[in-house]
Formats: sequence, structure tokens, C-alpha cells
Amino acid sequence: MKTYTKIYLKTGKEDSLKRFHPWIFSGAIHRFEQQPEEGDVVEVCDSTGHFLAIGHYQIGSIAVRILSFTPVQIDEAFFVQRLRSAYVMRQSLCLITPENNTYRLVHGEGDNLSGLIIDIYGETAVLQAHSPGMHFARHQIASALKQVMGESLQNVYYKSETTLPYKAQLEAENGYIIGGEASNIAMEHGLKFYVDWLRGQKTGFFVDQRENRVLLERYAQGRSVLNMFCYTGGFSFYAMRGGAKCVHSVDSSAKAIDLTNKNVALNFGDDARHQAFAEDAFKFLDRMGDQYDLIILDPPAFAKHKNVLRNALQGYRKLNAKAFEKIKSGGILFTFSCSQVVSKENFRLTVFSAAAQSGRKVRIIHQLTQPADHPINIYHPEGEYLKGLVLYVE
Ligand code: SAH
Repeated sequence: MKTYTKIYLKTGKEDSLKRFHPWIFSGAIHRFEQQPEEGDVVEVCDSTGHFLAIGHYQIGSIAVRILSFTPVQIDEAFFVQRLRSAYVMRQSLCLITPENNTYRLVHGEGDNLSGLIIDIYGETAVLQAHSPGMHFARHQIASALKQVMGESLQNVYYKSETTLPYKAQLEAENGYIIGGEASNIAMEHGLKFYVDWLRGQKTGFFVDQRENRVLLERYAQGRSVLNMFCYTGGFSFYAMRGGAKCVHSVDSSAKAIDLTNKNVALNFGDDARHQAFAEDAFKFLDRMGDQYDLIILDPPAFAKHKNVLRNALQGYRKLNAKAFEKIKSGGILFTFSCSQVVSKENFRLTVFSAAAQSGRKVRIIHQLTQPADHPINIYHPEGEYLKGLVLYVE
């Protein structure tokens, strides 16, 4: 059995590990048996030398990302076991069907694989490393994935150029680890999407809004819909299938608008109900009239760090205030924040103050979060990032 370099914690710093929290901050470390390299597997011990956990070491504020609280070898068999557990869970929840072959297979800590994201689009997996340890293990992970998924998986695309810690200077290159001849049409609840994992944002598609899109479809009948920050058009197609009178999709990225238009054609052909605009959200909201009675606001994360939280909250307030100002009476607003540092309470307070500013009568009809394939490890509450409110505006 391979032994790993030991890291000794300061006295009392083992408490969070005993509650299975999967991170060790650099300030908790007393000493190293020998200085590990970035991305090495290490054994974490308390100050007296008792085994606590195994994890990936990295330089930075998070110093170790825990992989196991029992002594194990971190090898291909380990990844097979963890990936199988993730796959079995999604199968048992009936998330994987011919109508829905788009899902997140691994959601970092939520699947006990801190630093790793895997999204599945049909026969292709897009693998994203957020830690040096997962970067070095990428070939093992790809091969383990193939073992678990068998013939249903033909391609593994590695996409970590922009997600690894900058300071680690790993210069990861995006590219196929397995396969390469991939159809890039994926299905979500029977709707088809071109997923551009080569050039698109994140892994190519926002899988996390799936169930919230389903809810939107229920309310779309006969409504005029504005899908603000549409990206590849997800919410727009559910609204169209739900019988919306008209759907306008807006995104500042011209590439996103092109993809949205292609996806409309793929599902609805030449449907005059849909129009797309490559335009800044605030400009569009300023110039638009009061024709919409269903508005979706799903902006990018306004705050990526705690120190910009105040500005981010201001941004959310302004954005929501504009929607409250213009939405038709009897309208429904779907409003989201995907910033992990913005808490559910903070987001709700911000939307509350935007509503108060507009003077409209507003009722909360749903409180939304991320779907089952983005599970939150109960010992890692930081994994909860997506928050949404559905509001009825008189
Ligand atoms: N709702 C989408 C995901 C949104 S991601 C879905 O369901 O898939 C956020 C999007 O906001 C990105 O596509 C980005 O291009 C766009 N964006 C960022 N800043 C913007 C701005 N100021 N105005 C309009 N769109 C913006």
C-alpha cells in the first residue's frame, strides 16, 4: 500500500474534519512531514499523529481538499467507486432518460469529489478540474468514467483552462481525453440543444436550471415572456413549448444569441413568436415598454468573492427594481442569483428592497434552488449556490 506525505494539524483544528467538512485551510496546518508538491495526495493527521483523512494538497487558502475520511489508495479504483456512486444516485432518481440525457454527474463536494465537475451531454462527458490534484488525476478519472458508463459514453472532453487556480501555473490545455467525434446535440426534457463545450461558457450549458425551466413552462400559457441573460436560450424554449404568446431572449453576447437562434430553429423551426436581441440587460430594460407579463432574470454571478458582496447586492437590487417597474400587472417574475457568496437571506432582502422601491404589490409564490444532480453535501453548506424566487406582481 502506497503511503502519502503526512500533514499535522494544530491542536483543536481537527474539529471541522470530525464533522466531515471537506476543506482544510492553510492556517490549520502545524507542520508537514515533508513539503508536498501542488496536487499531491496527502494524509491529514491531528497534532498527535492520529489519522483523520486523505486529500489533495494545494497552495492557497484552501490547503487540502478531502477525498476520504478513511484510509484508502487514491487510484483508478477509488475514482470508479466514487463515480459509480454518483451515477447510481442519478439513475435511481430517474434523472437519466432518453428525453433527458443532459445532467451533472459530479458536483464537487456534493459527490464527495472536491475539485471535480463532470457534466454529461448525451455520449459526451465534459470534465472540469478546479484543483491541481484533479488536474493530475484527469486520465485516471476519464478511464474510471468509461468503466462506470460503458458504451453509453464515447467522448471525454477535458475543459480546465480557466478553472484551475491561476497561481498553480499548470497551463492546462482543453481537449479530448477519449474519443473526439461527438454529436453536440443534447436533450433536456425532450428539448434539443446544441451544446458548445469547445467554446461555450462553463461546460457549455447551464444544466442547473432544468427543474426551474419546467416550472416556468407551467406558467407560460398566453404570456409575453422576456428571458433576460438567456445564454443558449434554455428558459425561452420551455416558455414556447408552454404556449407563450411571444418570447424575447436577451444576452449581451452575440455568440449566445446565435446559439439561441439555432436552438429555436432546432426545436420549433421558423417560429415567429421568438425574437432574440444581443444587447446589454440594463439598456434593454431601460428602453423596453411594459408589454411583458413573465420575466426571467438569470444573471451571471455578480459576486465571486466576499469583498465585492455589497456591490453585487446593489447590482441585483437595480436589476430587479427595473423588472418590478415594468412588469405588467398580474405578471410573474423568475429571479435568480448564482453567486455562492450571496446567501438566500441576502438575496431575498435585496429583492424585497427592489420591490419596495417600485411600490408594487409582490407575493412570493415559489422559492427555488439547484436540482438533484447538483446535490449539497450536508457537511458542506457552501455547496448551495443557486437561489431563485418566483414572484407574482400585481
Ligand atoms: N439563463 C441562462 C444562463 C445565464 S448565464 C440559461 O438558462 O442557460 C449568464 C448570461 O448572462 C451569459 O450568457 C452572459 O453572456 C450574459 N450576460 C452577462 N452580462 C450581461 C449583461 N450586462 N447584459 C446581458 N447579458 C449579460
